[in-house]
Amino acid sequence: MKKVIVITGASRGLGRALALRFAEAGFRVVVNYLHSKDSADEIVKEIFNKGGEALSFSADVRSPEDVKSIITSIYEQWGTIDILINNAAITRDNILPKLTSEDWKETIDTNLTGPFNTIRSASKYMIKRKRGHIINISSWSGVKGRSGQAAYSASKAGLIGLTRSIALELGRFNIQVNAVIPGFMKTDMTKDLPESVKDKIVSSNILNREQDMAEVVEFIYNLSKMNNVSGQIFNLDSRIL
Ligand code: NAP
Repeated sequence: MKKVIVITGASRGLGRALALRFAEAGFRVVVNYLHSKDSADEIVKEIFNKGGEALSFSADVRSPEDVKSIITSIYEQWGTIDILINNAAITRDNILPKLTSEDWKETIDTNLTGPFNTIRSASKYMIKRKRGHIINISSWSGVKGRSGQAAYSASKAGLIGLTRSIALELGRFNIQVNAVIPGFMKTDMTKDLPESVKDKIVSSNILNREQDMAEVVEFIYNLSKMNNVSGQIFNLDSRIL
């Protein structure tokens, strides 16, 4: 049976690159998105044209019902869920006096409750098959904090706690749970950051370089093939945690 991977927020940026890489490796890929139907459909078409299999699914990771419904229909259709990558995320950056309760809630709901929803639904089927790997995409902000990013930092720190606790719970079912911290990548998420902030991030790297997204993708792909790694948090650039 072909392996199945679910990638949240795969219509753009890192999620898109992961979808294409896992498809190339022979996985059946679920390309989840919220709004970007056209680009999700294009990714599915690209995978199909290269001889692979993929489905695009609009589902809001904030909604337990949406998530349950796509996970159930994938399992019914393809009979397995081998890898789940919690990649979907948003930023609503602002200094504290200007950070609204709505922005705080939307960020926590997407970046932290979203992974909780997907893990709870997908792990049910992973437990049935006594195998699975969940990879959560966290952030440097979640470990070190960043001024103006209280909501995003809190959500990504929470995701690290979720990773460790769920790894402890699911290990006995042969399910691995890890988190990855990519360095600074040029995507829609970072396009509005002032140049001075980007320069500061890059220069805080020992190697003084921004992150090559292809390296992040390759790291995650190789991590997904490892059998004896769980509960770990991997930083992928040259800042020392
Ligand atoms: P991005 O380009 O902004 O893409 C975000 C993706 O998340 C899109 O596919 C979007 O779907 C989806 N999404 C947002 N809200 C959603 C929801 N409620 N339900 C389902 N999907 C939703 O982001 P990126 O830069 O590739 O980031 C990918 C991951 O890496 C994130 O977890 C981010 O925190 C992390 N990260 C990024 C960087 C960086 O420098 N870029 C650094 C460290 C960590 P639509 O297209 O439909 O809106």
